[in-house]
This record gives sequence, C-alpha cells and structure tokens, in this order.
Amino acid sequence: MAERWDLVVQGGTVITTSESFVADVAVSQGRVAALGRLEGLAAAQGAQVVDAEGMVVVPGGVDCHVHLDMPYGGSTNSDDFASGSVAALFGGTTTIIDFATPGKGEALELGFEARRRKADGRCSTDYGFHMVMTRVCDKTLREMDRMVRQGVTSFKLFTSNPQRLMSDDGAIFRAMRRTRDNGGLVCMHAENGRVIEELIREALAAGNTGPRFHPLTRPMEAEAEATARVIALAEMAGAPVYVMHLSAARALDEVRRGRKRGVKVLSETCPQYLFLTADEYERPGFEAAKFVSSPPLRPRGNETRLWQALRDGELQAVSTDHCSFSMRSKGGKPRGAPGIGTRMLLMWDAAQRGRISPQRFVEVVASAPARIFGLYPRKGHLAPGADADIVVIDPRKTHAFGVASHHLRVDYEPYEGRTAHGVIREVFLRGRRMVSHGRFVGKPGGGAFLRRAPRDF
Ligand code: MN
Ligand code: MN
Repeated sequence: MAERWDLVVQGGTVITTSESFVADVAVSQGRVAALGRLEGLAAAQGAQVVDAEGMVVVPGGVDCHVHLDMPYGGSTNSDDFASGSVAALFGGTTTIIDFATPGKGEALELGFEARRRKADGRCSTDYGFHMVMTRVCDKTLREMDRMVRQGVTSFKLFTSNPQRLMSDDGAIFRAMRRTRDNGGLVCMHAENGRVIEELIREALAAGNTGPRFHPLTRPMEAEAEATARVIALAEMAGAPVYVMHLSAARALDEVRRGRKRGVKVLSETCPQYLFLTADEYERPGFEAAKFVSSPPLRPRGNETRLWQALRDGELQAVSTDHCSFSMRSKGGKPRGAPGIGTRMLLMWDAAQRGRISPQRFVEVVASAPARIFGLYPRKGHLAPGADADIVVIDPRKTHAFGVASHHLRVDYEPYEGRTAHGVIREVFLRGRRMVSHGRFVGKPGGGAFLRRAPRDF
C-alpha cells in the first residue's frame, strides 16, 4: 500500500453524477485515496472507521453564491464568515463562493485582499470569491487579468441597481470580451434596473411601501428582458455568460433560445424559487418581509418550469444567494434571505420525492458549480485524488427546518416548520470531521482559500 489511510467511510451508498453503488471511501492526507469494496483493509491500515451502512455518501456541497459579512448601510448583514460557514457545514456544504466588492475607484486587488482579511482564519468551509465589477475601464480590465491569475476567475456585473451597481451594455460587453481572452467568466445579475427604478418610484408615490409591493416593482418581464440582453452581449463578445439566480420561467426561455443559437449560457437557480412562491407576500404585516429578495419570489406555477429545467439540464446549478438579515434589523429595507444551511437537505428531499434524480442532485449542488467555477475535480467530486469533502446522510431520519436548527445569527427561518427526509449525519472537510451527529466538532476557521482555475469551456 503506497499511502496510509487516515479514515475510511465504510459501506455507504455512494452517489455520483452517473451512478449509485455501495462502497467504502478511503482517505489519506485530506484526499480520497480509494473508492470501492475495501473489506478488511481499513483495519489493517489502522484507519479511523466511520460506519455508513444504510447511509448515503455524497461529495460536500458547493454553494457558488453566498453573501457573508456583507457591508450594508454602514453595518453588515447578520452572518459573518464564522457563523455562516458553520451553518453551511451543518447543512452539508463544504465550499462556498462569496463576493469581493472593491470600494469606489479602488483596485480590484485591494477589494479582494480586504475580503480575504474578513474570511481568512474565520471561515470554516473552503472558500473563494467572485469579483464584483462596477467600473469597466482600461485599468480595471488589466486588473481582471491579474485577478484570474490569482484564482479569482469570475466577475459579477449588474443590469440592475442603477444607483450603485449597474453597468451599461458597453461596459458589460467590454468585460465579456476580456474574459473571452483571459479565461474568466462574467456572471450577471439580469434584471432591467431602469424599469425597476421607475416602478419603485411609482410605488413610493402611491404609498405602496409594504413588502407585498416588492414583486410588483420587479416583474418577470424585467428579468426576461435583461437575460435576453446579456445573452446577446455574450454572443457578440464571443464569450460565455453565467446567469445568476434565474427565477422567472420567461428568463429560462431566453436562456434556451440563446443556447439554441450556440451561445454558451450557463445558469443557476436558488431553492427559494423552487420551493417558495409569491404567495408568501400575502402573509400579514411584516411577516412578508422575510421573503423579500431580488429577484423576488415568483407566482405559483413558475416553479414547475424551473424543476423541469433542472431535470433536463437546462439549469446547471442550485446556489442559495444566502444573505441574512434579522427581522429586527430588516426595518423596512430588507434585501435577501438566509439559505446557506438548508440547500442540500431541501434538494435531497426533492430527490427522494422524485423531482430530480439522486444523480442530478449531486450534479446541481456540487459537481456542476465546481466545474463551472474552476474547482473541479478537486471539489464536487468523490473520486481518488479529490479533496475528501464527504457528506454522510441518514435517509431514514427526518430533519425539521427552523431557527432552532439553522445555526445562524438570524432570527427567522424561511422554511420554518418544513421537514426533509434525511439528516446530515457526518461532514468531512479535506478528511477532517467537521460535523458529527448534530454537533460541530471541527476546528473553527480552518477553511482554505481556493485559487480557482481559469475557465476550460
Ligand atoms: Mn444578484
Ligand atoms: Mn447575490
């Protein structure tokens, strides 16, 4: 035996993107060393043995869209890298990609370094960053090249938020052109910011300020239009584009049309668009504010089309857009909802109910996001050589979602009262046990920054 095994996860049903089979997973020095029936070999090696008989074994989740310790209105949102990453681990997510947003006029590198200072030593999952770009010019284009070389290989631009974040078509086109050549990937927030601005103005003038007016100011057409536009820009730039948090089925139609023309369009959706609908905005008083996000929740029926697209492979990934604010602090200007710890079990439960296959489950929560964002095959993949990020699910038990179990610093849970068939029993990050039987047993802040590879598609 070439290398000594430290750990063997024994006898579980391993699920990959192509099959399910009973196997032992042997780990050596943080990596998967062997996968198969390794009868008796574990004991001979003196490895720690974790009995996974009757359990399901999957690669650690990759959540490619989260916002932790996000500056907002002179403060930050509720969960920082310490609390958010622990909640992620409890929920079976071992890798996150957050965002670095440089200050006005600040070099991309400086924004990146400031973000690393927030995460380094605090984040308990492994982590990377997308770079938010609000200014596209000769200088920032050169900085993009340098960021790609430093392992920050994706860039988020916005067609929304004119006051703070929006780029015009020329800027988006230029950034895409640059990624055509430097191996980066442009990720878009695609909603028509100017129209939304007008609708908000109208709503405010009419005194329509409650959360239930939020979806009316961000209609599905605004998302469909911007999605069509960014796809056309990518087509002209000869570059791929990743559409973030796709929520409206009409936007999906645009993705499908673009792909048919040969544009390389990739897209994610989020659990809130799959499991919740705009009905939540009918809740009394400020209860509805718990569901204010951008894009907003969509009318009942829309989600059926998203599920179909997840099954068909038309949607590639499921990320959370986790952005937690306590109701105490939401005070009329809510933006975003928690989700970092609930994604895996919500999706696993959906797989149990036949909405997607177990193979698609692994694909959309782990393998695809890892592949798209330059982390594959190290992440999102259970095979020899990969990081030993391993999640053991007990499919016979039931998990209750709620504030009591979400491990976040936020005072509500969007899925309060829901249950999932399955509990996360063990979570390993690079072979180290982080969560076991509902307790955090890892080293806090032990996550590593991941230098992501340039795009290979
Ligand atoms: Mn966004
Ligand atoms: Mn976001």
